[in-house]
Amino acid sequence: MGRGVIILVALAGLAVYYFSNREVNPFSGEREFNAISVSDARALGEQSYVQILQQEGGNVLCLERCQSDAAEEAVSTVREIGARLQQAAIDYENDLRAEGWDFTPVAREFAWTYNVIQSDQPNAFCLPGGYVAVYTGIMDVTGNFDGEVTLGDLDDPDKLAVVMGHEIGHALAHHGAKRMSQGQLAQLGVAAVGVGLGDMDVGQRQMVMQAMGVAAQGGLMAFSRKHETEADRIGLELLVRACYDPREAPDLWERMGQLGGGQRPPEWLSTHPASATRAANFREWMPEYIEKYEARCGALD
Ligand SMILES: [Zn+2]
Repeated sequence: MGRGVIILVALAGLAVYYFSNREVNPFSGEREFNAISVSDARALGEQSYVQILQQEGGNVLCLERCQSDAAEEAVSTVREIGARLQQAAIDYENDLRAEGWDFTPVAREFAWTYNVIQSDQPNAFCLPGGYVAVYTGIMDVTGNFDGEVTLGDLDDPDKLAVVMGHEIGHALAHHGAKRMSQGQLAQLGVAAVGVGLGDMDVGQRQMVMQAMGVAAQGGLMAFSRKHETEADRIGLELLVRACYDPREAPDLWERMGQLGGGQRPPEWLSTHPASATRAANFREWMPEYIEKYEARCGALD
């Protein structure tokens, strides 16, 4: 068989794989590729979470007992915010089902676990399955934002809720599983072309493979930016459903934009949309969410 035919057959196989593994995303209305089941993603989430907590060891606040009153307050604040957001997530999925979206709700099945990790890193995450960690470094950004990470940085639960809502948004929309699925597909595509290029000159083959790698990487980055925007929007919805002030969201991301590059966690380093894009999104969304908030929770001052 000629080189072109092999490549075509392999890519046709990948296309079939792609189209047979698409599911409805009720948050965007689109059909999206996801080859990883909810239960597999959840098992991976739990496994990573246990590993991370083990690695962090003594930095996990109140794992067995609380070392201080401040630690206890930090953990209970995160858990209170989490309890409100997770209920909002369950209600949101129920409402989307009631609107006729055909998807499997996950929030009510999640194991919802919250921990706080002592670290200067401004980071937070929610793994598939609802395994949440908040680093004290991000509580400085949501709190008094003076660059000094302390357990006293709890004065603004609304901004902390913005961060947690965003992270929970990633988990609800299966962004981790979709990213893994896309990465796998890109690798398979590159490999398929590699096989097809078998009898090509080594130098030429390297050039083609390199170009494909760069293109795949670019595709995945665009994909991540799309996920960031989607998590922002879902987070905002959870925020108003849990009666946290939606106007805190643009403020929070403005602060994120002010963080030095070296301090930024990997997620924000490479994938987060330019602060200007993010601010423009929030400006566009805000009137709708202020209205939603006021209908549900009373007038904002
Ligand atoms: Zn994110």
